[in-house]
Amino acid sequence: SLSIGIVGLPNVGKSTLFNALTKNDVLAANYPFATIEPNVGVVGVPDPRLTTLAEIFGSARILPATVDFVDIAGIVRGASEGEGLGNKFLANIRESDAICQVIRAFKDDNVVHVDGRVSPKDDIETINTELILADLQSVEKAIPRLTKEARLQKEKAAVLAAAEAAQEILAAGDTLFSRGITKGTEQGALLHELHLLTTKPFLYVFNVDEDELSDEDFKNEQRALVAPAEAIFLDAKLESDLVELDDAEALELLQSVGQQEPGLSTLARVGFETLGLQTYLTAGPKESRAWTIKRGATAPEAAGVIHTDFQKGFIKAEVISFADLVSTGSVADARAAGKARMEGKDYVMQDGDVVEFRFNV
Ligand code: GDP
Repeated sequence: SLSIGIVGLPNVGKSTLFNALTKNDVLAANYPFATIEPNVGVVGVPDPRLTTLAEIFGSARILPATVDFVDIAGIVRGASEGEGLGNKFLANIRESDAICQVIRAFKDDNVVHVDGRVSPKDDIETINTELILADLQSVEKAIPRLTKEARLQKEKAAVLAAAEAAQEILAAGDTLFSRGITKGTEQGALLHELHLLTTKPFLYVFNVDEDELSDEDFKNEQRALVAPAEAIFLDAKLESDLVELDDAEALELLQSVGQQEPGLSTLARVGFETLGLQTYLTAGPKESRAWTIKRGATAPEAAGVIHTDFQKGFIKAEVISFADLVSTGSVADARAAGKARMEGKDYVMQDGDVVEFRFNV
């Protein structure tokens, strides 16, 4: 499954955040015999629709979609120079599918900042510089080889051109992501063989003080710093308190600081979207469940997430939109009202589709 690497300077609250994330580990809760790696937190993506489906179908349990967060320790200045820890740091990021930077915005004289001052802008620059330098090295190493290959293989000329364009962007101090070059774009696909870091989607978690949680001016300033990446604002200390409370107490604490939902929930949802993922839903007496697919997946591809045989033997998908299912009240009533659609193999799955697959075994 796809994962998000959590990075950040020392003392910004990464461990505090990661510990809170792993308190919500759904793998531990639902699969008691699963092997759990110490630096991976498998977090459920909150979806209130599952609660509604569970009521309609009398489901015994709810299984949300999940996102894997990986705690990547050891960003240091000079990581791109490839010494010991730095090397491992970059290798771990290379394995992640998105990069989540935790940025310190909280003020606390008891917590030392590595550079002696709290400045989100400088911290973002410090981290991005290491990633940009690492990519610049990869690109500069590849260009002579690609130049040779392009003489013999015509299709390599496009890769060379993409590498040269990337070099220019990186040398100017920008990440490729910030200039719209990601895995999903044509340029990004050409660069795939270089295993670059900054073509991965970025998201930013600002670890703030309680009073900044609802300070819209402050938040807009930070959003502008990181656009087009998403910015999430949370108080890691508050989050670590919230995971210790029951639902009612947690809600009370959240409301006392003017928040609707825990920052961890926002992080899971935004992280899921940043990875380019979406869900479809299934429901029955056993469970109500969200299944993870790539945005744009077709019905047979979606079926394949449940079982490869479902994809191979795919006949049709019976699809009812969540809204129609709720307004009619049951599958039978949705069918009677003509709200159940039979979709074929070219159907592109939509968010909120409640599905039952028909297949040959
Ligand atoms: P890491 O080095 O990035 O993993 O940072 P830690 O999670 O270990 O946090 C470093 C210190 O900052 C610890 O003493 C935390 O208790 C403290 N800390 C973390 N988050 C917050 C926060 O939101 N507010 C305040 N005041 N302190 C925090």
